[in-house]
Amino acid sequence: MHMNFKETLQKPVNYIKNMYHKDTSTGTDAGDYKIPHFPYKDRYIYDVANYSSVLNNILQTIQTELFKNGWEFIPKYEYICTSCGREYDHEPEQKNDEGVPICSNCGNIVTKPDKSSIRNVKKQLRRDVNYNNQTLTEVLKEIEWDLDAYDSAYLYLEKNYEHDSDGKLVNTEIDEIVKLQPIRMRIIKNDRGMPATDQKGDSIRFCPEHRGKKTKRDYCEQCGRETLPTYFVKEKGEEKKYFSNDEVKHLKKYRPTEPYGWSPVIPLWQKIHILYFMNRDKPPKGPKNFAKYTEMRNGLKKEVDSTYGVMPLFQGNLEGVGGLNNEGQEITITNSAMRKGQEVFNKKLFPWLCDQLSLEHWTIELNEVETRDVAQEKQQINQRRIQNAVQMSQIGFNVELDEKEDNKYVSFKYSGKAEKPSEQ
Ligand SMILES: [Zn+2]
Ligand SMILES: [Zn+2]
Repeated sequence: MHMNFKETLQKPVNYIKNMYHKDTSTGTDAGDYKIPHFPYKDRYIYDVANYSSVLNNILQTIQTELFKNGWEFIPKYEYICTSCGREYDHEPEQKNDEGVPICSNCGNIVTKPDKSSIRNVKKQLRRDVNYNNQTLTEVLKEIEWDLDAYDSAYLYLEKNYEHDSDGKLVNTEIDEIVKLQPIRMRIIKNDRGMPATDQKGDSIRFCPEHRGKKTKRDYCEQCGRETLPTYFVKEKGEEKKYFSNDEVKHLKKYRPTEPYGWSPVIPLWQKIHILYFMNRDKPPKGPKNFAKYTEMRNGLKKEVDSTYGVMPLFQGNLEGVGGLNNEGQEITITNSAMRKGQEVFNKKLFPWLCDQLSLEHWTIELNEVETRDVAQEKQQINQRRIQNAVQMSQIGFNVELDEKEDNKYVSFKYSGKAEKPSEQ
């Protein structure tokens, strides 16, 4: 039996109504921290991200595109003064008697960032970074997935701590790099926004050996080791595990002003569910109903796409072949979404990671990836330039390919004079 347009939509609408929970307060107080509250349980957000094929396709595309060209160590500056620390983005003009560039501030010798300091770290990071045999890129891709699904992701550096006989912390070493499950993580802050602090203003600390317990003391009551300030806690039922801000980096992408971010799935939730049922169920009968149905579905899909900054790879694909089964449709990321996505890593995650790796003079950046819209624009410009060259040659100029310019665009050199139009 075929249903009409309205009946077709009744099922997803009822389904969504049942999922919505009414408590939309900003967060439940749990003493040292707030438990985030979204209009939908975070478990549902997780399920939608994982089981909606429309969303899965989008999240996978973003994940693949952002990391397509890998990452690289980048020096933070060209030169640095060995004495006063002034940084230069070019070689200083002043030189000493031996012709070595010197600092314009203090006159001491400047040097380039030392490559040997990254050699070992590079080797470490190119190998597996955890006991699940994941590379750094694989961990970062998981972080990106969490950002797109929850707008909240946590990178964890599991460290080995070395203490002296007085319990003082003398050395730390990164053992593993993994991501933590965002729905279990809480940020420790008091009502005045002070991190790692309780309502009375006292520091909340934990012992790296006894992570399940918080303390106010600087040394652990159980083992005497130096404690660390606690910025995050992982909750699993009654079980708690505390972390410092040198161990965990919290990232947000879509709404960084919200303490726990704001997942794009929340506003898209209803649309994604309607799409799910529309893709699964038979469309209504009759050309008029079908047209309305297709138009609505394409509209919904477009809204989901634009929230994430993706677009269909082949325009006009939707209307063809009955317009069905667009869930597996090939999509691509826009240039602005690419930039926004890579920025989270380049500006927030890598500077922190390099600090933790004690790399003073270096940072890491994701290599740029040319997006489809940039490639298209380039093609259009080149086409116009070629057309122009053809016209110039037709009216009598000498046209020569200019190979000097970077290979981004074709370029031509013109010489000679335009021919006078021949009289007939
Ligand atoms: Zn100097
Ligand atoms: Zn302890």
